[in-house]
Amino acid sequence: MARRKKIYEGKAKILYEGPEPGTIVQYFKDDATAFNAEKKDVIDGKGVLNNRLSEFFMTGLNQIGVPTHFIRRLNMREQLVRSCEIIPLEVIVRNYAAGSMSKRLGIAEGTQLPRPIVEYCYKDDALGDPLVTEEHIAAFGWAGQQDMDDILSLALRVNDFMSGMMLAVGIRLIDFKIEIGRVYEGDFQRLIVADEISPDSCRLWDIETGQKLDKDVFRRDLGSLTDAYSEVARRLGVLPKSNVTKPTLIN
Ligand code: 5GP
Repeated sequence: MARRKKIYEGKAKILYEGPEPGTIVQYFKDDATAFNAEKKDVIDGKGVLNNRLSEFFMTGLNQIGVPTHFIRRLNMREQLVRSCEIIPLEVIVRNYAAGSMSKRLGIAEGTQLPRPIVEYCYKDDALGDPLVTEEHIAAFGWAGQQDMDDILSLALRVNDFMSGMMLAVGIRLIDFKIEIGRVYEGDFQRLIVADEISPDSCRLWDIETGQKLDKDVFRRDLGSLTDAYSEVARRLGVLPKSNVTKPTLIN
């Protein structure tokens, strides 16, 4: 069997050339990193959980007409996605203050925001993904005005979908990060949700207890990351119920 061509290796995923033109195989690693890779570990099973959860969210978004790069899951750790030009921005939507916003503005974590707030960071690991304004984005040509209108609309639609989905299983969507890609269709181009949507890129708190069920468990040493992600997957009905003891069939 021919070896696949690796296109890119990031902190949590590897991208390989896909089987057809315009496709990419996205492989989810077990590696966990935080604070711009200053803290690192390998967490058994994280890649499998994120592959499943990202499939679940992206499929739901596709079904409600929010375009994403997701085509289909291939196996435990890989999914087939559309290849696209990634816009070099991290698009963050916040419903409650937490993380860097709490630090930057001195707002207690968990404070509900008056409305969802969308922020943009320039994707550059060496710079630590700095916060930028629409002025920087326009001036440096990272995205045009029409792109920014489309990005805002996609981000808010993802927020509504994800907030509702999580609320239904007793989880509060505090904030999340998405990445946006550009695809060309004949003479047209459009923007789609790319990368992944998983507990690696969201803050998810249990509504009753406030327990964190996302990557902050790793960032802040709060316990088992796989237990937290498995709990999200279990509530959403994403994981097969492997812990249910099945009767053994004899003959
Ligand atoms: P904060 O700016 O508070 O650190 O992060 C806001 C949200 O975006 C959190 O849900 C966080 O997980 C997500 N986020 C920010 N930067 C990154 C990143 O580089 N990688 C991932 N996976 N998520 C990020």
